[in-house]
Amino acid sequence: MQSLSQICSNCTVESKCRKREFSVEAWTVLVIWNEVQAAAVDQPLCDECYNELRETLIDRASDVAEALLVGAGVKTAGGSKHATPGRSKVRRAS
Ligand SMILES: [Zn+2]
Repeated sequence: MQSLSQICSNCTVESKCRKREFSVEAWTVLVIWNEVQAAAVDQPLCDECYNELRETLIDRASDVAEALLVGAGVKTAGGSKHATPGRSKVRRAS
């Protein structure tokens, strides 16, 4: 029997992975925020990574526009602004 499992491109855990339909903009900000490895962009991800990335995008949707400006090389005035700590991530033990 052949396993359907694959190595997740982001967390390298062997799990059921699928290619996720994030927009180019979404992938860009996720990489900028170090939420996903650049090498994992447009690659199959496990459910856990996908859920986490999606929640991050939802949580930080208001930051997306600014992050894209920074990513595009547009300098924002006021120097480096630290990201809001936000709520702590709860990672379920699997
Ligand atoms: Zn993963």
